[in-house]
Amino acid sequence: MQNKNRTLNLEKVSIVNRIDYTDDLCSLFIEKPVNFTFKPGQYCTIGVDGIERAYSIVSAPHEKYLELFVELVPYPDGILTPLLFNLKIMDKVTIRPRAKGLFTFKKEYINHLLVATVTGIVPYISYIRDYIYNAGSGNNFFILLGASYIDEFVYDLELIDLAKTYPDFIKFVPTISRPDAAKNINWKGETGRVNQIVEKYSNDFMLSPNDTLVSACGHPGMIENVKEILGTKGFKIEEERYWKED
Ligand SMILES: Cc1cc2nc3c(=O)[nH]c(=O)nc-3n(C[C@H](O)[C@H](O)[C@H](O)COP(=O)(O)OP(=O)(O)OC[C@H]3O[C@@H](n4cnc5c(N)ncnc54)[C@H](O)[C@@H]3O)c2cc1C
Repeated sequence: MQNKNRTLNLEKVSIVNRIDYTDDLCSLFIEKPVNFTFKPGQYCTIGVDGIERAYSIVSAPHEKYLELFVELVPYPDGILTPLLFNLKIMDKVTIRPRAKGLFTFKKEYINHLLVATVTGIVPYISYIRDYIYNAGSGNNFFILLGASYIDEFVYDLELIDLAKTYPDFIKFVPTISRPDAAKNINWKGETGRVNQIVEKYSNDFMLSPNDTLVSACGHPGMIENVKEILGTKGFKIEEERYWKED
């Protein structure tokens, strides 16, 4: 994925919309190539100038565009994201022909404890949009989302709305790790890193390892900690690491 000079003739698609939330978080809506299919939770591989990276897909398969939620890793650490953040509507990116990944919705588990940091929420939005679109039944979603600052939640409004509309099977708990920061001054919700609240909420939601799948997506340190805390209690845990810790 990291090779610059590929000879493959990759399809180019346009950015049809872009929403900036903060200096380093944006959603990109890109054209979906004809015959491009994916399962909720999979990722696509997009590129600029031959630099390619994986991005989980926010949108559900029935939606017209591929929606991505991207965090800027500033140059010189980040390579592709500084290029992506310079793109405007109608600029083009390359896209690999196939979506990939096994971090997909597993209907056979009744309960899903979905744990994320910031952009790690992406696969879960796709699961739930798809589930509701297809009038799914028999599953429960418990979503825990962690961020440092409230403006990093971004998809929280959609999740709050869904939890209100479907209170029987969707619960959503956002938590901030820096409650004393000026940006968070009016925050009245949960505090602490998301991995520090998983045990409490797995108890409050009365989740049992017998019928629960725990999914952890985003920050690798969070994933390790969730595995330590809930793995030792016998929960099955699936993970999607967006990057490796140094
Ligand atoms: C399966 C998969 C799905 C992914 N989905 C998303 C997604 O939905 N949204 C998204 O923004 N990114 C996602 N990523 C990460 C993405 O592929 C890029 O690595 C990221 O956007 C940074 O790209 P870059 O070229 O700017 O920096 P890179 O050259 O990829 O990375 C530079 C350095 O930053 C670290 N890094 C990468 N991402 C972050 C981050 N968010 N915070 C802190 N450090 C980071 C890397 O480990 C590396 O040390 C996903 C990665 C994988 C493997």
